[in-house]
Amino acid sequence: MISISTKYALSSNPFSLPAALVAFLLISFALSSNVNANDSPKLSTTFSAKMESVSYSKTILPKSRPDPAVFFGQTPISIKTPKPKPSLEEIFPKSTKTVREMIFLKTGEQTLEEKTFKLKAGEGIGALLKRAGYGPEKIADVIKTLSGKANLLTLQIGTTFQVASRGIRFSTRPKYDIFVINHPKDGWFSLTTRRPIKSYLNYANGVVSGSIYQAAIASGVREAVFNEYVSVMGFSVDFQREVRNGDSYEMLFKINRDELSGNVVGSELIYGGLMLSGEPIGYFRFKDGKEHIGWYDEEGNSAARTLIRTPISGARLSSSFGKRRHPISGFNAMHKGVDFAAPRGTPIIAAGSGVVTESGWKGNYGRYIRIRHNSKYDTAYAHMSRIKSKIRRGYRVKQGEVIGYVGSTGRSTGDHLHYEVLVNNRQVNPMTVRLPNGKPIEAIYRDDFEKTVENINAVLFQRDTKRLAGDPAGGTAQ
Ligand SMILES: [Zn+2]
Repeated sequence: MISISTKYALSSNPFSLPAALVAFLLISFALSSNVNANDSPKLSTTFSAKMESVSYSKTILPKSRPDPAVFFGQTPISIKTPKPKPSLEEIFPKSTKTVREMIFLKTGEQTLEEKTFKLKAGEGIGALLKRAGYGPEKIADVIKTLSGKANLLTLQIGTTFQVASRGIRFSTRPKYDIFVINHPKDGWFSLTTRRPIKSYLNYANGVVSGSIYQAAIASGVREAVFNEYVSVMGFSVDFQREVRNGDSYEMLFKINRDELSGNVVGSELIYGGLMLSGEPIGYFRFKDGKEHIGWYDEEGNSAARTLIRTPISGARLSSSFGKRRHPISGFNAMHKGVDFAAPRGTPIIAAGSGVVTESGWKGNYGRYIRIRHNSKYDTAYAHMSRIKSKIRRGYRVKQGEVIGYVGSTGRSTGDHLHYEVLVNNRQVNPMTVRLPNGKPIEAIYRDDFEKTVENINAVLFQRDTKRLAGDPAGGTAQ
């Protein structure tokens, strides 16, 4: 009987639907009623649409149903099933726009006025309240009420206090307010409230002329969103060198607005696309069931690009990274790469996708190739017997593509590949360097991911997307 009732409880739990999916269904729903105003051709467009709160949605509790065990004449056994987490909305009451409103709500008392005071340097809450006209007894009561509720010693200079005769309000962390209110019968009490935060979905696109940063900001992208975009796209794009005039970008992002103050209190990139010299690149945010947030292309490949530590097959490590006695000079020197001994002519592959920045003879290195993978990572390959003819400077190489063959050119004692990994132009140990995790979507989250992409795409198409992510369904990207 245990198994029956457990199963029942689980299947009736609506939370088997991933939170991200629910969020996007909400987004799509909210947008379907939004009239798209993009009827004039413009280079840069931004739309802001109000949507149902994403980070602040109410928990839907499962309806209670009779335990099926009862129908079989069995005694139900109480089993702990995963409880949906109560939302913050249920734990904390909502803030009000003014202290007076809260005082009225909690005590029924009308207060005539309230004033705003900012904490000055060297001032404590006591001095501030004195400045606001509170007497010593009242100040002592407020401070006593706040003990354990807020650390009054770490209040930041400039913290805003709203002060009315029967209560005050201030905040020590974003999204939350602390009220201290005087009840005519029960005396002083404190109250933590949550400021109502609403999420809005935004879309922006444009064409680069000059700097992509300026273009993006001008088209309504927030700075934090742009930074997130660069860090996501940065695995495959070198923003400093590769983005050119005429390339286009698009971003779908969420901003969180404090409904009381109107201030933006947070943002989140949901999708980023870039048309780079005619090559479309697009990544989607996805949070899996383990709460891990990753960025993936439409096929579920990670935006994070890892590098192959051994870009040659059938080779043995013949010399590792670090100080060593040089086989030719006899001096102790730093070996800034690793050596793989392999027969002459063994193919060498690109450790990662990127742009070839050097290809040809380079002194002691002999025949040498250097590949720039992004703004952070480079790899280099030396002593080759031959370089593939198309591996010229400027060529976009794919991970795993053969770039040349093992040899002993330059300062070398025998056939081997000298391989370097450079982080910010400094050689690091290729065997131990921490590389980004390039794992694709886990199989168990595949369906959720595909639904997420479908929902994001639906939103993008409503916004006249340029579809910079490409279109696997066979349509044409512009
Ligand atoms: Zn070497």
